[in-house]
Amino acid sequence: MKDTIQTLPLKDKFHLPEGMIYLDGNSLGPLPKGTNARVAEMLTAEWGEHLITGWNRDGWMAQPERVGNMVGRLIGAPEGTVTMGDTLSVKVYQALSAALKMRPGRHVILSDSGNFPSDLYMAQGLIQQLDQGYELRVVDPEEVATSIDETVAVAMITQVDYRTGRMHDMNAVTKAAHDAGAVMLWDLAHSAGAVPVDLQTSNCEFAVGCTYKYLNGGPGAPAFIYARPDVADTMDAALAGWLGHDAPFAFEPDYRPAPGIGRMRVGTPPVMQMTTLEHALSVWDGVDMADIRMASIRLCDLFIREVEARCPDLTLVSPRDGALRGSQVSFAFENGYAAMQALIARGVVGDFRAPDIIRFGFTPLYIDESDVLAAVDVLEDVIKNDLWDTPEYKRKARVT
Ligand SMILES: *Cc1c(COP(=O)(O)O)cnc(C)c1O
Repeated sequence: MKDTIQTLPLKDKFHLPEGMIYLDGNSLGPLPKGTNARVAEMLTAEWGEHLITGWNRDGWMAQPERVGNMVGRLIGAPEGTVTMGDTLSVKVYQALSAALKMRPGRHVILSDSGNFPSDLYMAQGLIQQLDQGYELRVVDPEEVATSIDETVAVAMITQVDYRTGRMHDMNAVTKAAHDAGAVMLWDLAHSAGAVPVDLQTSNCEFAVGCTYKYLNGGPGAPAFIYARPDVADTMDAALAGWLGHDAPFAFEPDYRPAPGIGRMRVGTPPVMQMTTLEHALSVWDGVDMADIRMASIRLCDLFIREVEARCPDLTLVSPRDGALRGSQVSFAFENGYAAMQALIARGVVGDFRAPDIIRFGFTPLYIDESDVLAAVDVLEDVIKNDLWDTPEYKRKARVT
């Protein structure tokens, strides 16, 4: 499989609803074909027939490591340095907690205003829990590298801004952190499967991310966490669950962490969700991230060019230079929420982020130029003819 180089797009690997142009794979990837059969097999043959013996026989207990290695291959992490479980917010908490423990005497967590709120909330909650005078310092994204000084224990940065797609230079920021003696923690939520990442080269201590966005693991798919091998055996996992214990089935009364990344496991893995994700990751066999990146920039550039030419009411808020952008394009529009509802009603699915941003993800696995052009046709129609201007499109739903 590995030797076959795949040519993009790979639309036939996904179930893509008839008549829909899906530009929201940055938020929830589509269903890979074969998932239903694989999950049905897991349910009937594995759970159904093998019951508890499935933990060994079907490799359920080893899934977090096995799937972690599959994710690791996409982000330049060596074998055995990534594990899976819980949600990204929980993994942020664990990595941040471990990082803080590595720099006693320093009390600042540095992040930026482009970070996703949950990461900032988790930091705030951890600070409160520790109650030791820690401080969360949030600076402008452009000022991250120059703001890391010797008071900073950990720089906790999300590489690609969820709103605008602006992308940090991972190696440069990591170097700035290390030059100041700080620990580097990257959130790769909008990077994994979207842009080439090489954790080993970046030399960061920690990285976390989710798998339901560009990795197509399905709603609620488990998160991943990476620790650099030289810190993994001494780090503090923060959540001392039994499956992060060195010998879970010895049932010792006292916690003793497993060696390496295994200690970042907490409790029982979600086997159905993990099975779904494992199947989704097989889609990447033979896919070159450099090809993905090239196609992604080409699609995003085309979208920007066409929208700016045909929808002058929209203002680009993503970097114009593809090298500084992840795999999404965002425009500001005063009536953005209603405009997105009008687009969705016409089969062009992106999403809205407050206060006024309409966001479109471009995922070369299943999006091509004809999709981009067709989407702009609909967008132009919605904007030029004020098709968004109806009460039904202005009613806010729970998820935007
Ligand atoms: C999507 C995203 C999350 C979501 O966290 P969950 O715990 O999986 O809900 C967190 N942080 C960032 C940066 C994200 O992009």
